Amino acid sequence: MQNIETICVQGGYMPGNGEPRQIPIVQSTTFKYSTGEEMAKLFDLEATGYFYSRLQNPTCDTVAAKIAALEGGTAAMLTSSGQAANFFAVFNIASCGDHVVAESSIYGGTFNLFNVTMRKMGVDFTFVAPDCTDEELEAAFKPNTKAVFGETIANPALRILDIERFAKAAHAHGVPLIVDNTFATPINCRPFEFGADIVTHSTTKYMDGHGSAVGGAIVDSGKFDWIAHKDKFPGLTTPDESYHGVTYAEKFGLEGAFITKATAQLMRDFGSTPSPFSAYLLNLGLESLHVRMQRHCENAKAVAEYLKSDPRITWVSCPDLEGDRDYALAKKYLPKGSCGVISFGVKGGREAASRFMANLKLCAIETHVADARSCCLHPASTTHRQMSDEELLGAGVSADLIRMSCGIESAEDLINDVKQALDNI
Ligand SMILES: *Cc1c(COP(=O)(O)O)cnc(C)c1O
Repeated sequence: MQNIETICVQGGYMPGNGEPRQIPIVQSTTFKYSTGEEMAKLFDLEATGYFYSRLQNPTCDTVAAKIAALEGGTAAMLTSSGQAANFFAVFNIASCGDHVVAESSIYGGTFNLFNVTMRKMGVDFTFVAPDCTDEELEAAFKPNTKAVFGETIANPALRILDIERFAKAAHAHGVPLIVDNTFATPINCRPFEFGADIVTHSTTKYMDGHGSAVGGAIVDSGKFDWIAHKDKFPGLTTPDESYHGVTYAEKFGLEGAFITKATAQLMRDFGSTPSPFSAYLLNLGLESLHVRMQRHCENAKAVAEYLKSDPRITWVSCPDLEGDRDYALAKKYLPKGSCGVISFGVKGGREAASRFMANLKLCAIETHVADARSCCLHPASTTHRQMSDEELLGAGVSADLIRMSCGIESAEDLINDVKQALDNI
C-alpha cells in the first residue's frame, strides 16, 4: 500500500478468505489459553498475543497499525484520550527529576497537564514561544532535559511549529522531539518526514471526525537511537525489574521499544485503555479522513477569505491565507492546507461577539472542534467568562475572538450563516 488515501481506507487490516470485510470488534476483556506455560510466555513478553484487554486488544491494535502506517511510523498504540496519549508519550521517557522543553502555544489541556499535574509528579518544564530565537530555544535546555514537545498546528492559537528547527535543537541535545499532530493529521503533515521522533494524536478530533468517540494515539518513528543516549533513557536501556528484567531497547529494537514500554508499563499501571468499540468508530472515521480533510481546509479558507473582506471583522487568523504570521511555515509544512479551524475578531468586542454567537443558525455553539459539523466558540462569554478583557489578553485570547471549526457542509451555507449572524448583531 503506497498512497496515504489507500492506507486511510484499507490500512492495518487485510482479511483472509471468508473473513469479515469490516474490522471485527473483539469485545472481550480476556483471552483463553490451553496451558499456563503459553500464557506465562505472553506475560514475560516472550511471545506475542493477547491476554487482557487493558494491555492490548486485537481491534485496538488493528486501528493502531493503520495510524502507524498513516504517519510512516514503526509502531503505535491507542489510548482512551488525547490527554492520556500526551501524558504517556512524555512520562514514558521523563519522570521525577527530569525536565522537558515545550512550546508555549500548545492546547490548554496539555499545558495544564504539564504545568500543574506533571510538575506535582516531579517533572519540570520550560515553555518557549513557537517563534522564539535559536538562542532562546538553546537556553531552555538543561542537563536533565529528556524531550522537546510541540504541536504541528497549535489548538487554538493556530501557530505552526517549525518542526525541523525544533527537531534539530532536540537532537543536538540527544533527546527526541514529540509532536502532537492532532490538527494537521497525517493527511496534511507527517512530522517524521521533518525529523520528529514521536507523534501523538487526540483522535477525538479529525481522525474520528464525527464527534463520536474520545481517544488518543501514540506513534513511534523508530528512528530515535535510545542506546546512543543510554544514560539519558535508563527506562529503555536498562532492565525493567517490573517486567522480568527485560531491556526494551535491546529486546524490541529501536522500532518497537518505545511503544512496548508504554504498553507494558504505563498501560498496565494507569489503564487508559480505549474500548474496542471506540476503536471501531475511530476506524470508520479514518476511512474517510483524506476526503474530509480536503473539504475542511477548502471550507475554512473560503470562510476566512469572506471574513477578510467583511468590514465588520477586525482580524482573521488562518495559516493558509497569505499575510498570516505563519503563512511561510504553513506553506512548508502544510502544502495541502492546514485544518478546518480558524479564528477571527468581531468589531464591537465582547458584546458584539456574544450577539454574533446567539445569531448563528447552522454553526453550533460547542467547545469541541474538528468534526464534520461546523461549530463556533466565543471564549470570552463561555470557557473564559470569569476573566476581564485585560486578563484575556494575557492568556492570548482577545475578548472579540471567535473560534470557528469549519465542517464539511457547503462553504456557501457556512458563509451565509456567518453573514446573517453579523447582519443581526
Ligand atoms: C483535544 C486535544 C487534546 C486532548 O485530547 P482529548 O482527546 O480531548 O483528551 C490534545 N491535544 C490537542 C492538540 C487537542 O486538540
